Amino acid sequence: MRKKIVAGNWKMNKTYEEALSLVSEIDNMVKDEVNNDVTVIVTPPFPYLQSVSKLTQGNDKMHLAAQDVSEHESGAYTGDISAAMLKSVGAEYVIIGHSERRMYHHEDAQVLYQKMKVALKHGLKPIFCCGEPLEERDAERHFEYVGQQLKDSVSYLSNEEFDQIVIAYEPIWAIGTGKTASAEQAQEMHAFIREQLSRMFDAKAAFNCTILYGGSCNPGNAKEIFSKEDVDGGLIGGASLKSRDFTDIIKSF
Ligand code: 13P
Repeated sequence: MRKKIVAGNWKMNKTYEEALSLVSEIDNMVKDEVNNDVTVIVTPPFPYLQSVSKLTQGNDKMHLAAQDVSEHESGAYTGDISAAMLKSVGAEYVIIGHSERRMYHHEDAQVLYQKMKVALKHGLKPIFCCGEPLEERDAERHFEYVGQQLKDSVSYLSNEEFDQIVIAYEPIWAIGTGKTASAEQAQEMHAFIREQLSRMFDAKAAFNCTILYGGSCNPGNAKEIFSKEDVDGGLIGGASLKSRDFTDIIKSF
């Protein structure tokens, strides 16, 4: 059976102290209240990874991700963070291809592919993000657009590499807007993604791939979205910054 995941992407939020109190609240709530088989991932900013890793170590349900990784191994890349560094401070997953990185840092399909390769080489599991802007949805080109994103970056992975990755479908028009995709819109895109993956790899591997929905997911809409057959959880932005909301989303399964 494929893994169910709820991942919180904190983006560029919280001071060190705020981050530690948020994660200890989540850690306690998950211990006390969550009895389903969901893998919980928190994705704090880089400087807090090691402390968050230590804090969550004793909790089997809690896992750690980074928000980005360099496509390079090491060397003269001022400001960049390597996969080996992330691994060495306890990260297990890494978000790659978030629309905010594609947009503000001009990360293209080739760079995203390289980031996945280097992450996988160092034992990190990529959470590969895809999703269309509003113009593509309005022009009814969203399937084509997302299909191309998968083809351009994911299709070049080996079967073994593909087994390690998680996909997150995040329609750009739903991110931080309060305007979520309907459960039906999420389901039809997730089914489409799984179908594309089954052509690139094999049907069993595609069936076992966790596909998350992201975009204005909150405690009020998570249950309906997560109830869909091809939706295996969520990548949560704003609502992951409040321990109560995030835990309620985890409990929506
Ligand atoms: P919001 O949940 O704030 O819409 O953000 C989604 C997201 O971008 C997660 O990566």
